[in-house]
Amino acid sequence: MLSYRHAFHAGNHADVLKHLVLLELLDYYGRKDKPWYYIDTHAGGGCYALDSEQAGKTAEAADGIGRLWGREDLPPAVASYVEAVRQFNPQGRLLFYPGSPALAMTRARAHDRLRLFELHPADFESLQRTFTSEQERVQVRRADGFAALKSLLPPPSRRAVVLIDPPYEVKEDYRRVVDTVRDAMRRFPTGTYVVWYPMLARTEARQLPGRLAQLGAESWLDVRLAVRDAPRDGLGMFGSGLYVINPPWVLPQRLEAALPWLVERLGIDGGAGFDLEHHIE
Ligand code: SAM
Repeated sequence: MLSYRHAFHAGNHADVLKHLVLLELLDYYGRKDKPWYYIDTHAGGGCYALDSEQAGKTAEAADGIGRLWGREDLPPAVASYVEAVRQFNPQGRLLFYPGSPALAMTRARAHDRLRLFELHPADFESLQRTFTSEQERVQVRRADGFAALKSLLPPPSRRAVVLIDPPYEVKEDYRRVVDTVRDAMRRFPTGTYVVWYPMLARTEARQLPGRLAQLGAESWLDVRLAVRDAPRDGLGMFGSGLYVINPPWVLPQRLEAALPWLVERLGIDGGAGFDLEHHIE
């Protein structure tokens, strides 16, 4: 079943948190000359037109990146993220939203590499189109990202950021995330793994960060941003989180400076808030 299309959600509050953290990680990896690999197991379509029928239907970007656009008082991590989105909107109007692979590409140097997996035929095609001129640095495959990850670990440079960002349309995704990370940590213990998860009433979603913690990584960070109260009917996402294994030591500090501001800007009701926990060796 492949009904999820990221175009409906591109640029929403969850993308803001995920993409801001992703850029922070790649900036840290870029401090050393040694090449990095960016592996995106669920890459999406690459770049999204916000005036498309899909994006227009939900207008989720308006309550995400739209609330940050044009502001001057951005904390450093938010400013760096908004600046990256700006590169796709050179006219100054917010018309395009870059997905995780496109944002990662803004940080890629000549010797860094992107490895992208996407199953949906239309998103795969659009992803391929986005990177046609980048065949040396970027490889795009139409494959199951959970299964394919193992073929890339460990990467030749022994430096990688892996984003695992499934749609969680099916219950199976929750189990596969944990199994995939467990296997990846065995093959390549020093990689940085980022798992995106939705804040939802459903049990599997609530249990996911705890199950990732049980994998026993010594260094980890768990960040959550809620934009509203949990809905009374138990339906619908009210925020999102990222569980990061082997985060850089600078990440908590950068997030602490950004999260209260993001809650203020992106919060919809009194349930808005953040949580940040970490242990970095
Ligand atoms: N990472 C993207 C970003 O941040 O811009 C968004 C990805 S979206 C949440 C999830 C994507 O995973 C969808 O485009 C979906 O078609 C794709 N997908 C679903 N199951 C997959 C699988 N097993 N392997 C690879 N891609 C999958």
